[in-house]
This record gives sequence, C-alpha cells and structure tokens, in this order.
Amino acid sequence: MASEKLILSFPKEIVTKPIVYHVVKDFNLEFNILRAEITPNLEGKMLLEIRGKKEKVEECKAFLKKEGVMVREATQEIILDKELCVNCSICMSLCFANALFVNEKTFEIEFNKDKCLLCGICLDGCPVKALKSKI
Ligand code: SF4
Ligand code: SF4
Repeated sequence: MASEKLILSFPKEIVTKPIVYHVVKDFNLEFNILRAEITPNLEGKMLLEIRGKKEKVEECKAFLKKEGVMVREATQEIILDKELCVNCSICMSLCFANALFVNEKTFEIEFNKDKCLLCGICLDGCPVKALKSKI
C-alpha cells in the first residue's frame, strides 16, 4: 500500500471537470482532500492525499498529468525562521492561500500553518532563505 500527498494545480480550463472522481472510479484509490482553493484567476489548487496500490498511484499521477493537471509532491512542512526574515513581504505576494501575512501590531511577517497548502512556492521566493521545508 502506497500513500502520497500531492499538490494539484488545475488550470481554469479544467477546474470544473470532475477529475478527482476518476481517482476513485478508475484507479480504486482512497483519497482525502486536505485543502482546496480557487485562486483569484480561477486556477484550482488542491492538497490531495491518495492511498492504494503503488502501481495504481503511479497510473493515477500519469492520468492527472495527461488531463492537464500540474502534479507536485507536497512539502511536508514549512518553517518560517524569524531570525533570518527581513520582513520584505515578497512571500506574501506568492502565497495564494494567505498563510503568510503581516502582523498589524508588530509589522512582522507571520506564518499561519493551518492555512498553508504545502505548495512550496514561497520557498524559492525568499531572498534570505528564511522559509524552509522540513522533510
Ligand atoms: S507553501 Fe508557502 S506559498 Fe504555499 S501555501 Fe504554504 S506558505 Fe503559502
Ligand atoms: S520573503 Fe523571506 S525575508 Fe521576505 S518576508 Fe517572506 S520570509 Fe521574510
């Protein structure tokens, strides 16, 4: 039995297609939608956990890619190192889930772990590498 957490990005052309339904029907996988968001430009993002036979998990990932879904393995955890952070706010503009925000009292960048979709997009955007991935 294999289990994977995947970040799926749906372009707006396919965001309304019932693609996740096929995960169950065609590949006999268990799935759990951990987070889902529609971004302002109508792109869909989903953090999906799938479990089942390893070969079916791989077939399912290939199917999703063929359907036009961008598939990335999820980062396990994001950490904001406040010692390194210079509060430039670049990461805020990259985070579609609003997990990074300005504390209105301290004017410092804060991280809300509960909103984070583990997409990893912010990691490359931080100029001082204050955002880290814990694997
Ligand atoms: S990984 Fe970074 S960009 Fe992605 S949702 Fe979490 S904080 Fe936002
Ligand atoms: S991009 Fe990096 S340095 Fe800038 S606010 Fe975000 S975590 Fe801090």
